[in-house]
Amino acid sequence: MSDTKRMNESVGQGLRVVVVTGAGTGIGRATAQAFADQGAGVRVLAVGRRAEPLAGTAERAPERIVPVVADVTAPDGPELIVREALERFGRLDVLVNNAGIAPHATLGGYTREGVGALLATNLTAPVLLAQAALPALTASRGVIVNVSTAVGQRGWPTNSAYAASKAAVDSLTRSWAVELAPLGIRVVAVAPGAIGTPIAAHAGIGPERRAALRAWQLAHTPLGRIGEAAEVAWAVAQLASPQASFVTGVVLPVDGGAVVS
Ligand code: NAD
Repeated sequence: MSDTKRMNESVGQGLRVVVVTGAGTGIGRATAQAFADQGAGVRVLAVGRRAEPLAGTAERAPERIVPVVADVTAPDGPELIVREALERFGRLDVLVNNAGIAPHATLGGYTREGVGALLATNLTAPVLLAQAALPALTASRGVIVNVSTAVGQRGWPTNSAYAASKAAVDSLTRSWAVELAPLGIRVVAVAPGAIGTPIAAHAGIGPERRAALRAWQLAHTPLGRIGEAAEVAWAVAQLASPQASFVTGVVLPVDGGAVVS
């Protein structure tokens, strides 16, 4: 089957509908905008907890990006998000599990509540959202893109539970790729390295520690710079595209060479 034919079939009735969680800032914002840039046939549900950043994301293409205020960890969050997609557009083609938190701590600094919140956002929410989206993704023969991290393949001193939560996301990606292949659903992940986003500020890390963290990241990045959110968004959009139709179960580093150094 030619790429063009596959693309035409995949857009089906004319729309390709994408859900991006954590779309108000950083990689999620860039990803929502990258999908919207693909053309008139794309609709993006930009999901996040606060209306204002989501409105900023939607400014790029208000006719294609729909802000949806929802918390992925709320008991009804996953169902609400999928319902929004189906009620507005009648289909769901791509789920990007991007929302994440990275509350740095040494082993001695973790609390039960802190670890619980970390896992609720980074691990439980993607599971429940993928589950809620399963019937719609089955109908569209859709794609799940998980946003992991390069350190999930290694480890991260002073951020161990975060790295572990993302290693679990890598594992989910591989298991789901096999489990959902008979349904025609592809499952992939991107594993960003050090990217210039507010994630550390969102975790409450002060400017001094953020600078030290940046220096550590730069020292571990062979390409010698911090990546841009748009560079990760590009990889997400490529892996989700119909042309990537034989790619599943892969965790793609987008990290300036960090994991291989
Ligand atoms: P970010 O903090 O800008 O983005 C995360 C977004 O998720 C924020 O907008 C946040 O409000 C949202 N979010 C958090 N909890 C949520 C919830 N319960 N419900 C809805 N939205 C929620 O940081 P980012 O760097 O863009 O992070 C995006 C993803 O990329 C995360 O999964 C992160 O772990 C991953 N990542 C980032 C880097 C990096 O260097 N920036 C590296 C590797 C992986």
